[in-house]
Amino acid sequence: MSIMKIIDAHSHIEYITHNFQKDVVGTLCCATKELEWGVLSELLHKDKNIYGAFGIHPWFVDSVEPGFEKRLEDLLKTNSEYMVGEIGLDKYKPDMEKQLELFQKQLDLAIRLQRSVFLHCVGAWDKILHVLKQYKESELPVMVLHDFSANNDILTKLLQYKNIYFSLGKNVVYDRFCRIEEIPNNRILIETDGDKNIILKNLIDKISKNESVIYNNTLRVLNNE
Ligand SMILES: [Zn+2]
Repeated sequence: MSIMKIIDAHSHIEYITHNFQKDVVGTLCCATKELEWGVLSELLHKDKNIYGAFGIHPWFVDSVEPGFEKRLEDLLKTNSEYMVGEIGLDKYKPDMEKQLELFQKQLDLAIRLQRSVFLHCVGAWDKILHVLKQYKESELPVMVLHDFSANNDILTKLLQYKNIYFSLGKNVVYDRFCRIEEIPNNRILIETDGDKNIILKNLIDKISKNESVIYNNTLRVLNNE
């Protein structure tokens, strides 16, 4: 019998303590605003089973203080294993213009420092695709689309980017997305997003995928390969 190993590809600081389920050997934790960066950084130095992504989440664009970019850049440069996230766009939250500005700045930074990116997108795939088109595909970093759900047309467009990974979680568990079979096995990750009702072992069964393939996908993302 093979040994089960699972990494939760998306969670948050406030949920991290109850997040270690059986067979879960690691958790990717996203800091969503500058106030959380220090807390997460401290946690990462203490616990080697936690991986960290740092950024400004589209819900919190109004938390941004002048000079944040420089501070984010310094933090990432000092810690070569830190990744970028959670960044992105959310149609149902205020100030799309500022969301776009911050998304692009943080994506540029991830490209410049060659870090994997954890992306949040709700109802704004056209805008995300528009931003991605401004880059050569070879420049783009490894990108993880968290709690992925999108229509067929969008999925087809996203699949053309070989460095995009699809992290499946709540939307799959609650049956809001069902074309999992279209996503290649080597581009699937799984996540709880801190929801303790999501049992990752059950999620693997539900999508009928091989856990060691998912585990290896996650390692590739965390190592920015
Ligand atoms: Zn999140």
